[in-house]
Amino acid sequence: MKNTTSNLQKNNRIAIIGGGPGGLTLALILQRHDIDCVIYERGFAESIRDQGGTLDIHKDSGQLALKEAGLLEAFHKIARYEGEDLLLVDKHGTVYRKEVDDTGKEGERPEIDRGALCELLLNALDPQRIRFGYKFIAATPLENGKHELHFENGHVDTVDLVVGADGAFSKLRPLLTDASVEYSGLSMVELNIEDAVNQHSDLISFNGRGSMIALSDNKGILAQLNGNGQIRVYLSFCADRNWVDMNGIPLDKPQVAKHEFLKLFDDWDEMLKNYIRYAGDRIVTRRIYMLPIGLTWESRKGITLLGDAGHLMSPFMGEGVNLSMLDASVLALSLVKYGDFEESILSYERRMYEYSSPLAEMSDDSLKRFFDDNGASRVRDWFEQMEQGDQNEG
Ligand SMILES: Cc1cc2nc3c(=O)[nH]c(=O)nc-3n(C[C@H](O)[C@H](O)[C@H](O)COP(=O)(O)OP(=O)(O)OC[C@H]3O[C@@H](n4cnc5c(N)ncnc54)[C@H](O)[C@@H]3O)c2cc1C
Repeated sequence: MKNTTSNLQKNNRIAIIGGGPGGLTLALILQRHDIDCVIYERGFAESIRDQGGTLDIHKDSGQLALKEAGLLEAFHKIARYEGEDLLLVDKHGTVYRKEVDDTGKEGERPEIDRGALCELLLNALDPQRIRFGYKFIAATPLENGKHELHFENGHVDTVDLVVGADGAFSKLRPLLTDASVEYSGLSMVELNIEDAVNQHSDLISFNGRGSMIALSDNKGILAQLNGNGQIRVYLSFCADRNWVDMNGIPLDKPQVAKHEFLKLFDDWDEMLKNYIRYAGDRIVTRRIYMLPIGLTWESRKGITLLGDAGHLMSPFMGEGVNLSMLDASVLALSLVKYGDFEESILSYERRMYEYSSPLAEMSDDSLKRFFDDNGASRVRDWFEQMEQGDQNEG
């Protein structure tokens, strides 16, 4: 007979590295099944709650995981269904697609700010199950699948299962694979328009209640209205990896930097340039990285990865957070079902490869579609093909 869950409850230590959406969801589902575990998170509760950006949570992945965590109803109460609205334009402001749902019906991909999602998860978690300020630095494999974990603050823990939910630059990943993240060819400059709802009604009426995507000439201005009334803006460029460091734009002088960014969008519509003009002084650069598509590794007892740590992909399908949470749910339920680390990890990893690899491929295709000479028309055509496919299936 197989081991039972109670064996996991009594005799084993499980550590989760990283308290992002994936790690928190895993800990919560294990908590619901009375399986002990601890999250080691390098940041602090306030920083996790404060992280910005809005995420759409999909019915067939992120929402499934929230259901397993017992939080689906609470999520529905704070989710922004109007955030699903979309405006797709080119550099002249010509509209290629406009989605506005005023039927009051609940769509399948409501939005939530990342901070609000993490707060929802954190508030439901027993505080004993998460340790903040513990930066994981290395793990030593021991006998029988155990690992000795080392943290920057000197803490050492020996565990039976360690789960790497530590994001794109996972420190646990090298124990399972030599693969590492590669630069995707896309760099972003993140800007914020504080209190746009009250301060910039012209931009709000253009942007609408959800996302605005302006694409032309292999560049983009991507904007999302967040729940707190700010607009988060991502200026996006196909560029060499060192562009963000070598472009000579002084980010510590925001007015000068914004002037330089405006020059890069010189021939774009004035309303689109307002996304740069109205932005505050906080400017953050990001390179978009991805793991090799279809990455797998030899399964090992006592260690696995989930979310971005296992399948970092381009964000242009909006799948990342949803897959992290789905992974968490599949892994937790596999542990509950098998009560044995070897079998449950093998089963989880097999399923995770199956559903994440095609989505990683689609996300990569989507990046290429967005940042084409005629990104707006390519993205519109793609939406229409998808709708046609859905109708044919239906
Ligand atoms: C610009 C941009 C836009 C995006 N937009 C979307 C979107 O619209 N929809 C979507 O689904 N996804 C989006 N994503 C992707 C999404 O943010 C990620 O896929 C998701 O956050 C992954 O969750 P995770 O829990 O696996 O990892 P993370 O969210 O990266 O969490 C990892 C956690 O581990 C902690 N950690 C890291 N290293 C250590 C360490 N050494 N020790 C201890 N703790 C550690 C971190 O502090 C963090 O809390 C976007 C990403 C980017 C860059």
